[in-house]
Amino acid sequence: MFYFTVGPSQLYPTCTKHYQDAFNQQLGSVSHRSETFRKIYQHTDEQLRILMNIPSSHRIFFTASATEIWERIFFNLVRRTSFHFVQGAFSKKFYDFGKLTAKQPEKYQVPDGLGFEHLQHIAIPDETEIICFTQNETSSGIRVEENEIAAVKERYPNALICCDIVSAVPYVNLDYSKIDCSFFSVQKGMGMPPGLGVWIVNEACLSKATQLEQEGVMNAAHFRLSAFEKNYRTYETPSTPNTMAIYVLGKIVEDMNRTGIKTIRQETEEKFERLYSFLQGDERFQFRTDVKEVISRTTLVCDTTVPASALNQKLNAQGFHIAGGYGEEKNKQIRIANFPSCDVETMTKLLKVL
Ligand SMILES: *Cc1c(COP(=O)(O)O)cnc(C)c1O
Repeated sequence: MFYFTVGPSQLYPTCTKHYQDAFNQQLGSVSHRSETFRKIYQHTDEQLRILMNIPSSHRIFFTASATEIWERIFFNLVRRTSFHFVQGAFSKKFYDFGKLTAKQPEKYQVPDGLGFEHLQHIAIPDETEIICFTQNETSSGIRVEENEIAAVKERYPNALICCDIVSAVPYVNLDYSKIDCSFFSVQKGMGMPPGLGVWIVNEACLSKATQLEQEGVMNAAHFRLSAFEKNYRTYETPSTPNTMAIYVLGKIVEDMNRTGIKTIRQETEEKFERLYSFLQGDERFQFRTDVKEVISRTTLVCDTTVPASALNQKLNAQGFHIAGGYGEEKNKQIRIANFPSCDVETMTKLLKVL
């Protein structure tokens, strides 16, 4: 089966081999306080910096999931106020975590399937400590363009800018001089089994967290950035991490670097154009917005008149599987992933069957 699902997704072609190598090297038994582990962490860190153009002002930390990072963000970076651009279920959940951790989050929300119009004119309270974007909303298939996020930092230089890039990597092209905090997990665009979150934070985040810790505002034990930072100096982690996944991520990213990010982005755009014009031209399918710019390049979502389950019955027989809508939209929408694990030919075959 080829999984066009939006997460977990089709594994990257080299993923299984790298996991086999990891088992052959007995990485499941290797100590996270050993030189072997430190080398693995360092390698993955270096490869990610090349692929994503991450500068030395930013650290790369590992967690168990992106959901865990949402929670850590409120503990470490928010004294009281956060502001969230909400365009679907994931960005809404990020906002909800603010309430669940007893902060005072605010949001600007658009109906599912529509983008933010005139984003630069949306008023954000001056006292906002952190402004949160979900660059690619996996439930509604709506993105926020990278230059719009950077422009918000210019308008609010004193706020931290946070960007969820879970279903946007490796395609997304962030200017990290304008992004203080971003994060992803590996079971979407990186084409790996779930179980690893990646948290990219700069020094402004580290000092904010230290400040909150010293003031006694932070009531966290395990969830402290200072502990991550202390361990990072020797490429270690506060607790026993998912060593195998950190190893495999480094290897897959190395493979992606061999292909080159420019090529990966070009291929993503080529597959997007085919997929978009196919869906656009078929009367069974309907995007909720006419604004092509806000439609996700990596997770396409549209309404369907034929139930998603019926479509999948037909597709499954030919070896393909796509995602239904998120939550309530399960049968009324389809979601199709456009990640690097899928090449142009496979995408073409899917469209033929569809
Ligand atoms: C999947 C997803 C998450 C949650 O990721 P987990 O690894 O399941 O915790 C968060 N944000 C977005 C945009 C997602 O697509």
